[in-house]
Amino acid sequence: MSLSSTTSKPFVSLVGAGPGDPDLLTMKAYRLIQSADVVVYDRLVSEEIMALVTPDAERLFVGKKLNHHCVPQDQINQILVDKALENKHVVRLKGGDPFIFGRGGEELETLVENGVEFEVVPGITAASGCSAYAGIPLTHRNHAQSVQFITGHLKKEGQDIQWASLAQNNHTLVFYMGLKQAPVIRQNLIANGLSLETPCAIVERGTTPKQRVLTGTLKELESLANQAISPSLIIVGSVVSLHHQLHWFKS
Ligand code: SAH
Repeated sequence: MSLSSTTSKPFVSLVGAGPGDPDLLTMKAYRLIQSADVVVYDRLVSEEIMALVTPDAERLFVGKKLNHHCVPQDQINQILVDKALENKHVVRLKGGDPFIFGRGGEELETLVENGVEFEVVPGITAASGCSAYAGIPLTHRNHAQSVQFITGHLKKEGQDIQWASLAQNNHTLVFYMGLKQAPVIRQNLIANGLSLETPCAIVERGTTPKQRVLTGTLKELESLANQAISPSLIIVGSVVSLHHQLHWFKS
């Protein structure tokens, strides 16, 4: 039983929808999507997943594209509060995991300020989903002992990132929202000592029937990024070389 169905207090379920394939929803996400009165969702939530929402539920699209803000974040926060205060069961559905580059924390802070209770349902984040479906293990005893998730939404040409700590061998880097910043990523990693020949991949629309995996080396990162469309994930590191042997997903 979810908390929401046992209480009449204002309540929001913040739910991760995973990277696209509806079969990657958690059982809990699936159940909540089907019982919601209102679903507030993003651009990254796939059509197949929205098709699971009951026909009489209210659907509110608050999707955002870089430079084309549909609904500003503070307005999204307010929608969640207002709908919850109408005593509707609100499901806030986000692509991937709500706590990984999802601004889920900010939305919850507004709920707390307004006395609205909530639960958080984790989802499969793009790094897990895309790497699994691309046959690129993020760690591997012979290749990488650690992995790092980094946002490509960089300020001031990436000066806010500690590039020296990223540019390590035996380490996998996963950049979210990195397509536009591919030249900055390549330049800074090379300047900090990563080899030009470091394998890298771009996984476009991962886990969906339209998935594409582009592979090359760090020196080619910019041209790979120019061939890809959003949403795409950039993976840098020796583990990418395993893709040729381990790819399995037929899109
Ligand atoms: N909360 C989400 C991430 C939101 S940021 C999560 O946990 O996955 C949005 C970025 O996620 C996109 O720009 C892209 O880099 C990545 N992403 C999300 N879904 C993706 C998919 N199906 N394929 C490739 N990248 C994806």
